[in-house]
Amino acid sequence: MDASELYDPEFRKLIKSKKPTIIIPVGSLEQHGAHLPITTDSDIVTEIASRLAKKCGFIVFPTISYGVSYEHSPLFNTSIDLRRLLGNILLSLSENEIKSVVILNGHHGNERSIPNNWYSMDSELRVYSYWHFMKHEFDHAGFVETSLMLAISDKVKMKKAKKGLITKGLSEKEIQKIKELSTKRRGFPKVAKNGVWGDPTKATKKDGEKFLAEIVRNLAKECQS
Ligand SMILES: [Zn+2]
Repeated sequence: MDASELYDPEFRKLIKSKKPTIIIPVGSLEQHGAHLPITTDSDIVTEIASRLAKKCGFIVFPTISYGVSYEHSPLFNTSIDLRRLLGNILLSLSENEIKSVVILNGHHGNERSIPNNWYSMDSELRVYSYWHFMKHEFDHAGFVETSLMLAISDKVKMKKAKKGLITKGLSEKEIQKIKELSTKRRGFPKVAKNGVWGDPTKATKKDGEKFLAEIVRNLAKECQS
């Protein structure tokens, strides 16, 4: 169920009787190379949240479609005070007697800005970044993200997909250095000039569907434990 299907006062009654868990997906609005839309993170995390909600009986609230993306500058990015925004939302939800919230994150740069605790003692807040629930190494507009988008969207321009930063063959130390630089303000295009981390050219819809199923299955297991 998502928020567009909820009506007051039924929703307030439901909060009292069923004590529902609310999922808040958090995405971004930032460059994803020439072949994926700037809404990519928000698109993917919205889809995962809605599948997870169906599986676990949660309610999906509207996606926060902006995140913290300073690292992508001067390529296109938007950034907000996400910590404050989420703090405001959590406060409102607790004032409405909602006691269980899952924040599902879809963008790496958001991780440090997501609160991991909540004010009220009897409430439960769980925070997950979805790529921790898949085996394959994650990327940015590379094989994984492009495959995920092929599975859920008709907006992928495969003809424009170009190989980006490839770390295969580099030492652990070198990769660590690249990762650190990539998360600094304006750092990402310094390590990945075309805004792509990984190789999207071999991405397929089938792989995307496989990744989605794996992520939702593992997340559901985690949420139900
Ligand atoms: Zn992304």
